[in-house]
Amino acid sequence: MAIAIASLHQESNTFSPVRTRYEDFDPVFGAAVLERHRGKLTETGGILEVLENAGRSVVPIGAAWAITANRAVRADFTRLIDEFCARLEAAGKLDAIAFDMHGSMTAEGEDDVEGYVLERFRRIVGTEIPIVVTLDLHANVTAAMMRHATALVGYHTYPHVDMYETGAKAARLLLGILDGRIQPAMRWRKIPLIVNAENSQSSSGPFGALIGKAKEWEAAGKAEAVSVFPVQPWMDIPEMGSSVVVVTNGDEQAADRRAAKLAARFWNTRRKFEVKLTPPKEAIAKALAIDGGPVVLAESSDSTGSGSPGDSTGVLKHLVRAPLTGPAAIFLVDPEAVAKLKAAGVGATVKLKLGGRFDTKNSKAVEVTGRVRLLSDGRWTARARGYNTGIETSMGDTVVFEVGQVRILIAERSAMTVDPELFRSHGIDPAWCKIVVVKSPNGFRAAYEPIARKIFVVDTPGVSSANLGSFRWKRITRPIYPLDPEIEFTA
Ligand SMILES: [Zn+2]
Repeated sequence: MAIAIASLHQESNTFSPVRTRYEDFDPVFGAAVLERHRGKLTETGGILEVLENAGRSVVPIGAAWAITANRAVRADFTRLIDEFCARLEAAGKLDAIAFDMHGSMTAEGEDDVEGYVLERFRRIVGTEIPIVVTLDLHANVTAAMMRHATALVGYHTYPHVDMYETGAKAARLLLGILDGRIQPAMRWRKIPLIVNAENSQSSSGPFGALIGKAKEWEAAGKAEAVSVFPVQPWMDIPEMGSSVVVVTNGDEQAADRRAAKLAARFWNTRRKFEVKLTPPKEAIAKALAIDGGPVVLAESSDSTGSGSPGDSTGVLKHLVRAPLTGPAAIFLVDPEAVAKLKAAGVGATVKLKLGGRFDTKNSKAVEVTGRVRLLSDGRWTARARGYNTGIETSMGDTVVFEVGQVRILIAERSAMTVDPELFRSHGIDPAWCKIVVVKSPNGFRAAYEPIARKIFVVDTPGVSSANLGSFRWKRITRPIYPLDPEIEFTA
């Protein structure tokens, strides 16, 4: 029995000034997929472990992961998906597919990449064999995804630390389907609702209660997979919204009833997702008044995990002027600064303008004088549970530039900032800092909460701002909460 595996990840933010290119996906095909994911804490790592332990023959198709940004460029998207499809065609007769996807990817001219790819895959393998799909918690589930997938299985954690477990669960479900033990019945509800990421922790609060219900039903054997998807909110596309998906063993009515129940619950708690943000100057002053550190400032409006370019000076401009009592660390994407500082060399004192390169609307460059401390090729391996754990990735050339007590890690390309290893790989230990700035709304909590003295989510402008009313929405289907606060909805 042959089971194809594939992995495709990119989360789109249609307000971002940066498009996604083929190279950003760093794609691999065939046996290289196994090399990248075997033994790793990714969804595909979990899928592989379960399938190989069960003695199934695995046919690797392709694996591609790109950092969050705007849509994939059309030609690059076509090239990438054609390669996946060509590999699938060449795979010969298959009995099933396990596909590890994000669920909120868009390309130029394609609002629903996952639905499109699943449709192309169905055209190749037919409608008979099962396709089980894992999804990020922030997936925008669509009618096409529901139509072409046999089962959709989402993460249960935010910060996301259960990629491996989600893959393993999906693979076990797939084996159950192949053995005839499970006849999957999948039902869903789409909810006209977008919520802030800052207040969507799965361990507590309104979202914690929803995920608790999903886990309870799975543990009690009432469903094979229950997923709640609070969609990542910055996508201006018609088929946009949160959703609930329930997969039961053969009971369509139960799947439908439970999906409706959970969707109603989600809707009824929608007001609890609102967040309180602190102005950056105030957050820095409060941090300096606290004994010890590190105090973590989360600049969620420039989150590199939410499609922002990571070039904001919204916090940086205050940080370089603050009367710091210890070192501070911040990440910044600025390829021009990297080139200039590389040319100057280690030890050089340089005066230059930093940041505001891509999102020129929301922040301006800030002029600073500092010293080049370190140059690197920007290759690093995430260690904390979360994205690409154990896999080496590249953010292009990097520089550690020191302005007073502020260590600015400047990269040519964007990177996730949720893992302290980002800084550690460049000689900066966040645990030793007075202030650490992360560009993340919530994902950073998994690794930073245990070491943080205090956390402030700061209020700066940006393309992943929590202030959803501030964006110019054109294509999203109205009414939707919270843009239309008086909307009514029945699950
Ligand atoms: Zn996510």
